[in-house]
Amino acid sequence: MVSRFRGAFLVAAVVLAGTRGGWAQSADRPARRGLEIDFIDVMGGAATLLVTPAGESVLIDSGWPGLEDRDPRRIVHVLKDLAGRDHLDHLITTHWHTDHYGGVEGLSRLVRIDHFWDRGLPEDNAPGLDFPDGPRKDDPLGIAYRRASRGKRKALAAGDLLPLQGVEAVVLASGGRIIDPARRAGTARASAGNPLCASAPPDQPVDPSDNARSLAMLFTLGRFQFFDAGDLTWNVEKRLVCPVDLIGNVDLYQVTHHGMDISNHPTLIQTIEPVVAIMNNGPRKGGAPATVARLRAVRSIEAAYQLHRNAATTAAENTDEALIANKDRAGGAIIRVFVEPDGSSFTVQVGEDGPKRKFATH
Ligand SMILES: [Zn+2]
Repeated sequence: MVSRFRGAFLVAAVVLAGTRGGWAQSADRPARRGLEIDFIDVMGGAATLLVTPAGESVLIDSGWPGLEDRDPRRIVHVLKDLAGRDHLDHLITTHWHTDHYGGVEGLSRLVRIDHFWDRGLPEDNAPGLDFPDGPRKDDPLGIAYRRASRGKRKALAAGDLLPLQGVEAVVLASGGRIIDPARRAGTARASAGNPLCASAPPDQPVDPSDNARSLAMLFTLGRFQFFDAGDLTWNVEKRLVCPVDLIGNVDLYQVTHHGMDISNHPTLIQTIEPVVAIMNNGPRKGGAPATVARLRAVRSIEAAYQLHRNAATTAAENTDEALIANKDRAGGAIIRVFVEPDGSSFTVQVGEDGPKRKFATH
């Protein structure tokens, strides 16, 4: 009896160890990995890590510089300790703002990075592209990025595909240009007009900043789709869904631009009908009440998560308490997403050991 009990205990321990990374395992069946997406808290910057079923790691943006490598260390913790990867296969930088590429210098010291992808650098001399916010060659961040990525970087244009196994990753916008509608002809709605455009709010003044030039990426695993548009702003967002929808239904929406209300065009959100939204806001950055209200008004959204409570607004102007990962300003808690290998459903977990909730995909 004692040995049988011990045996049962050991099996239980193995199962628990197997679920630490989020994926159920059993002794007689090797784990089938799905797609893992971690929203790492970099205090109002961006750092989203994907690990594909084939085990490839893709980091979108690398947080802020300095602070004794706070953000690179948070990223490496998730990459190595939670996702079990010893290097980074791909680093995508959506645009040239400090909260999106500032962490590259520290990160490249802490971990091997094999491939760098971005919207281009001025010295690429790509016709028609402009770089209003750098990175200048004498800017320490620009120097660090160029040094870390030398010989390992490529610019992504709208319509390009990232070379991943088993997951499709298509660039929908880059440098203010959007994908050719002909390239999206295979999607359900790209050939017909989008009726929601008739009631779209008016354009805003042209955004001269790098935000409007952000990469926007769509990741697909089976039926599951994840959309990350960096800090893309209003007018370019609208062009992704008007006059035709070039995105399609999205299951997981990274709330654009940390939840600022000059992004998150209502017609885009209503068109793509997300099931879950996750906002990478900080305690005092992003998380605009107007964006929170806009997300609440979209009927498809079953849960809208925030990395932080917005300390400057009321409880009613934030999402539900249970959907906020960091309630104090120290931060560091992540939000984890585990997509089943066939893309049929996904589970969202608040924190490394927090409650989980399962959602069906579109
Ligand atoms: Zn940003």
